[in-house]
Amino acid sequence: MKAQQFVIIGLGRFGSSLALELMAMGYEVLGIDHVEERVEEMSGQLTHTVMADATDEGIMRSLGVRNFDCGIVAIGDNMERSILAAILLKELGVKQVVAKAISILHGRALSKLGVDRVIFPERDMGIRVAHQLTTPNLLDYIELSKDYKVVELTVPACMDGKSLSELNTRAKYGCSIIALNREDGVIVAPTAHDHVHQGDIMVVIGSNESIVEFEDEAV
Ligand code: ADP
Repeated sequence: MKAQQFVIIGLGRFGSSLALELMAMGYEVLGIDHVEERVEEMSGQLTHTVMADATDEGIMRSLGVRNFDCGIVAIGDNMERSILAAILLKELGVKQVVAKAISILHGRALSKLGVDRVIFPERDMGIRVAHQLTTPNLLDYIELSKDYKVVELTVPACMDGKSLSELNTRAKYGCSIIALNREDGVIVAPTAHDHVHQGDIMVVIGSNESIVEFEDEAV
């Protein structure tokens, strides 16, 4: 199967880190920036790099960006240019357009223009770090809705060696352990007889309240 192709506009801190990670994952990446040094820094590390103004329709057309599966507008310094670049990607027919927003209003404008996914990297990272700093065993989490989430927690010493039936999370807190990740592999949908060991990672699903209660027990 052909590797998915990404075009990234703006090779600042966010755009370049995203581009390098996609490359490391085996995808093809075209990086575009209108500043020569940024392009030079990334050339040789990405599939292709081009110095160009992404708001120039003729150039974007000639670069064949419409053939890319996903276009990411990672312009962080100039709202007008970010919006113009996003419109162009949409109009040229890029299948999925993602854009970084620097403010709520900027994000709203991008959504109204039909951008498929608007991201707020600084805001989201701030929220994530706040959760991780205040919950010692929390590695990561996904919000399923405003009331439910999935979290990854490290098994603390006080739970070492216990079976899931002993932990009894469903009856005690109302949340469920849906996977265990440990050195010898991942157990998906563990049973009541599976045991957890200190340092293993438990993937837990439940309501926000049930997970807070379980996290409090897990310190
Ligand atoms: P970060 O916070 O991710 O470092 P920056 O604002 O520093 O974000 O980086 C955005 C990048 O987008 C810069 O390298 C800038 O040169 C590039 N850029 C801005 N406008 C355009 C444009 N019209 N075409 C191509 N690249 C652009």
